Amino acid sequence: MARSSTPAPTGGRARLDTPINFLKGIGPARAEILRKLGIITAGDLLWHVPRRYEDASTVRRIASLEPGMDATVIGRVISKGVIPTRKGLRIFQAVVRDESGIIEASWPGQPFLDRVIHKDDMLLLSGPVRFFHGRQLNPREYVNLGPDENPTSGGRVLSVYPATEGISFKILRSLIDTHLDALLPLVEEYLTDAVRASAGVVPLRDALRMVHRPSSIAEAERGRERLAFDELFFIQLLQRRANRIAREQRSGIHFENQRKLTSLLRENLPFTLTGAQVHAIREIVADMCSPRRMHRLLQGDVGSGKTIVALFAALLALENGYQSALMVPTELLAEQHHRTFTTLLGPLGIEPLLLTGSLDARVRRGVLARMARDEAVLVVGTHALFQEGARFANLGFVAIDEQHRFGVAQREAIAAKGDAPDTLLMSATPIPRSLALTMYGDLDVSTLDERPPGREPITTVSRAESARGRVFAFVRREIEAGRQAYIVYPVIDESEKTDLKAATVMFDQLSASVFADLRVALLHGRIAPEERDRVMRAFRDGDIDILIATTVIEVGIDVPNATVMLIEHPERFGLSQLHQLRGRVGRGADSAYCILLGDVGGESAERLSIFTNTDDGFDIARQDLRLRGMGDLFGQRQSGEATFRIADPIRDEALNITAHAEAERVLGEDPDLVSPEHAGIRKVLTARYARALELFRVG
Ligand code: ADP
Ligand code: MG
Repeated sequence: MARSSTPAPTGGRARLDTPINFLKGIGPARAEILRKLGIITAGDLLWHVPRRYEDASTVRRIASLEPGMDATVIGRVISKGVIPTRKGLRIFQAVVRDESGIIEASWPGQPFLDRVIHKDDMLLLSGPVRFFHGRQLNPREYVNLGPDENPTSGGRVLSVYPATEGISFKILRSLIDTHLDALLPLVEEYLTDAVRASAGVVPLRDALRMVHRPSSIAEAERGRERLAFDELFFIQLLQRRANRIAREQRSGIHFENQRKLTSLLRENLPFTLTGAQVHAIREIVADMCSPRRMHRLLQGDVGSGKTIVALFAALLALENGYQSALMVPTELLAEQHHRTFTTLLGPLGIEPLLLTGSLDARVRRGVLARMARDEAVLVVGTHALFQEGARFANLGFVAIDEQHRFGVAQREAIAAKGDAPDTLLMSATPIPRSLALTMYGDLDVSTLDERPPGREPITTVSRAESARGRVFAFVRREIEAGRQAYIVYPVIDESEKTDLKAATVMFDQLSASVFADLRVALLHGRIAPEERDRVMRAFRDGDIDILIATTVIEVGIDVPNATVMLIEHPERFGLSQLHQLRGRVGRGADSAYCILLGDVGGESAERLSIFTNTDDGFDIARQDLRLRGMGDLFGQRQSGEATFRIADPIRDEALNITAHAEAERVLGEDPDLVSPEHAGIRKVLTARYARALELFRVG
């Protein structure tokens, strides 16, 4: 370690890369604790920015709190203690007071807080207020400010830092405050004037001062924006560069656009392609006809017509003498696509193959034999496509529908069945393009942002519990008119912890009472796959009137005769999930309905009103991401290195768009970042991101 050779700053000049333990007030023990926060050098301390800010306008007076509010207060602990309950749960409670009044705060199951929260401490508390023997606050978050006098009085802004066990917020704040003035002059701007001007962000030194010692919350936000931009910009630089290198290294099949089968398909389509479909097909054809291997994401809302786009690509491979495969997550979907393709390709004299686990052995052997022969076939199938027995003689193109349903290994396994086949991943959770480029690294992205014309919007309504009888009567009328309905529940079984209605219980109940005379079936994830497919087939064939289900039905299923999607406990579903569910109806010529049933109040009602008010999947995905954060939609695996400390690519979408454009521009002018003008960017990039060393290696 080079630690011993680093000059100690005592008497001399501190540097931003000086280990933190050389700073005044930080011994080895504290340095160890700071390390847990990622603070290793003096510079890290500067970049340890507040998580949020409070001032007199954001902190409420305790006297003004009412049940139902979500509020932040600051008060002094006047009494506290641990209270046992009958069920053995131990609750830590504290009574806090500000100049207006007192309130009880309660932390169920956290008796250990008794050791860290003391009488006379000032606490910042945020959370919902409810009525429980008087007003009570249930802190979602608390910060122990120590015995500080009112930290937000007199127009002061309180910077709330992320702390950790072993170092109090108070100490952390005072450490940063103590060293700020000495460290700021050491900070050097690394963005070029051009980049800074395009992004409209403040100089770095100002930004750091603003985030740590803001004179107003608005100023703090301006500072944060600058630092957020940097993060987005650096990630975009890495992603764009990685994308370019990956493209160059991915040699693939050099297809030729012969316009034979694809033109025939176009002439025989029963509809006209949308502009977005034409554009996406063009991007895909260009990719496939380059010597590089295609690695592309096709995203588009439910019903935007992704399947047909994939079919064009498949035919391009076929007319070049290669084989194509479309992989889907369920047998039912496979059959559905296979049927559609059979109809569309009949006039072209092409007979698509179907490969699923439940084919009878003889048929299956026949399909496998044709795949193994050097015959240009199009195969639609499930996981069965990449299992051991499946061999492709000449696989040139792979499309993966509902790609999030497959793991990375599975997606790779199907691609490995060919020699560098071009691949197209399809997703029905469209996200803003700049975000897609941030999140999906070396993928290229095509987007269908237009819907085929002539679709009637689905009528979406929210109905209170008191309307249950009327809602069921409506469902019955639809069924008597010859249609079918879905009723969806959030859970399979009842549980003691919640009082949610469950699919199994409601199936027993409804099929024995209100819908006793109708054909009702049950579908959920614990039912064996073969049985699930059997039920879905029966529903598709019209042998079932009402399908009571969990979210297993959310992907791709197309039963045009189903016109009602009734969802119970809608507050338990994410917006994108609700949107997928709604997409199961409105696929035929009849008017379709999506009904959210139940008494939903407060924030959930607000969230659901986003859903009832728009049927634009992009809008919904964006709002969903905004509300739930990125974690839910992108596991660590998909997001890879693109993790953010300061920026939030959703909330900061406008910044991210600029960051993307600037990264493209800078790399367009200077792909290796070798010009002296970009020395600053290069230095910081390689210092902060391990991957940068490899991506921007020169010479
Ligand atoms: P998704 O993008 O959800 O996978 P699909 O590919 O299943 O959507 O298409 C939904 C329906 O719209 C299908 O019945 C398909 O035949 C039809 N469709 C696709 N493109 C068009 C178009 N340009 N005009 C009219 N109907 C279309
Ligand atoms: Mg689809």
